[in-house]
Amino acid sequence: MRFVVTAGPTREAIDPVRFISNRSSGKMGYAIAEAALARGHEVTLISGPASLAPPPHAKFISVTSADELHHAVHRAVRTCDVLVMCAAVSDYRPAAAATRKTKKRQSPFALKLIRTRDILASLPKENRRYLVVGFAAETHDLKSNAQKKLRKKNCDMIVANDVSRSDSGMESDANEVVIFFRNGETEKISRASKKIIARELVKKISKCLKKV
Ligand code: C5P
Repeated sequence: MRFVVTAGPTREAIDPVRFISNRSSGKMGYAIAEAALARGHEVTLISGPASLAPPPHAKFISVTSADELHHAVHRAVRTCDVLVMCAAVSDYRPAAAATRKTKKRQSPFALKLIRTRDILASLPKENRRYLVVGFAAETHDLKSNAQKKLRKKNCDMIVANDVSRSDSGMESDANEVVIFFRNGETEKISRASKKIIARELVKKISKCLKKV
């Protein structure tokens, strides 16, 4: 099977030396890419800036901004069986990036932010030939927020994790996730290293792929 996995944060330029980003390390996405390769799948890993070595046998595409990721995903899904959208895409970007470094001043100043495009929501909703797995990092109301995202973003599965815990989720080597399926079923993967969670996830995704 052909996997497309996105990973890491995106960076939205404020000026040539500054950006807005988030705490995503890329560890979960890279672990999923490695687990899929280990099961003999073909993998395209599309990654925002992360300080991790890409798995040697993956096709690696490096992106910086949400817009670049949007284009790379739309190109890659033309020939894939599953998209695993693990990247922590910035929800906002500066309305305009300054071409020269912004000088500091004494008075406060405000940065105008506009929404980035939602990549999952922009994918075709009907007659898709690939499975779509989204992620949801939540600090509260995990279940209801994840179920809303599953519907709104038209995913086949949503992998939700609680990022309010300091011992799992963002930047950590460990995670604990609940998977929400379209038919209302849920499955929990108890706290484990991201590598183990990734193996379990790839197994469950492969099982779903066999059914379609
Ligand atoms: O809405 P939220 O950002 O919490 O949703 C998370 C899921 O949506 C992740 O799978 C993420 O990769 C994806 N996403 C996206 N485009 C965005 C923001 C998030 O595809 N602009």
